[in-house]
Amino acid sequence: KADARESLYLVSEYANTYFQKILHKTDQGQAIGLSYFKERGFTEETIKKFQLGYALDEWQAFTDDALKNGYSIEFLEKTGLTIVKEEKRFDRFKGRVMFPIHSMSGRILGFGGRILGNDKKAAKYLNSPESDIYHKSKILYGLYFAKQAIAKEDNCYLVEGYTDVIQFYQTGITNVVSSSGTALTPEQIRLINRLTNNITVLFDGDAAGIRASIRGIDLILEQGMNVKVCTFPDGEDPDSFAKSNTLEEISNYLSENAKDFIQFKASLLVKESDNDPIKKAETIREIVNSISKIPDQIKREVYIQECARIMDISEEVLFSTLAQIHKKDV
Ligand code: ATP
Ligand code: MN
Ligand code: MN
Ligand code: MN
Repeated sequence: KADARESLYLVSEYANTYFQKILHKTDQGQAIGLSYFKERGFTEETIKKFQLGYALDEWQAFTDDALKNGYSIEFLEKTGLTIVKEEKRFDRFKGRVMFPIHSMSGRILGFGGRILGNDKKAAKYLNSPESDIYHKSKILYGLYFAKQAIAKEDNCYLVEGYTDVIQFYQTGITNVVSSSGTALTPEQIRLINRLTNNITVLFDGDAAGIRASIRGIDLILEQGMNVKVCTFPDGEDPDSFAKSNTLEEISNYLSENAKDFIQFKASLLVKESDNDPIKKAETIREIVNSISKIPDQIKREVYIQECARIMDISEEVLFSTLAQIHKKDV
């Protein structure tokens, strides 16, 4: 079993070397892949650091190469790098730029591959399937590169995508990881919690991003961690924002706009409808609901006080609402 997993690592590491070689050393890789990354503003140094690559637009170029170099079809199939269908073999990743996904210790677990351009017919990102070494709910993209900075800064920025991580890192904000399209899981939060108690959620400035932020908040609170949220202007994400701003501008934006979860939820209300009492009551209930997830009693009290102040409502009412929620839970 351990040997089988080792074989999956070895195939994945071979693929990682291969995709990088294709990116840097072939005409197609340079003309299409490398120029794509450059257009996104990634420097040569960044591309090398994150080991970005390119998969040729051919049916089985990688599979043929790996077989020729002695890797067995069994493990190629188990990593999902090769798809076997009725005796025929196909590369999973074809004509895509490649983002290898590293374990905490830097081994290759799987890949994300992005189509070039914005063709709406194909899935924008394609990921490795679950395997004995790739469990997407237990992995955070970028953690290998970010772990020291997370501990040092005592804070972790959580973003949605690969390019958000890379662009932030390149700008100089290196304590950043991504759940890469899967809904945030408790296991992922625990990985961060080994390094810091503080997460700042930086999701996209669209409806999907805001919804995902709201879901993330309660999960993070349940783990006993502190959570802040910073949203971006509609249509922007951390990648696009970082690409068009300096480090100083980004840092200023983050410190001016990062709100604790109560302020964040309260500000959503203000946006929706300022003076609707029913909406306001719902928001207060939602905030208290989030507060009820916090394991630490003292923290709960402090947050209740803050909620009372921000929403202009008595602490007594909030405490009794909190007690009701706790009763329902047991
Ligand atoms: P880009 O800037 O390259 O267009 P993005 O990271 O901004 O990509 P989003 O649409 O914001 O892309 O999605 C966030 C993340 O969700 C992606 O980085 C990717 O991990 C995942 N994702 C997006 N689209 C898909 C898809 N079609 N299939 C699987 N995962 C996806
Ligand atoms: Mn988005
Ligand atoms: Mn995005
Ligand atoms: Mn983006």
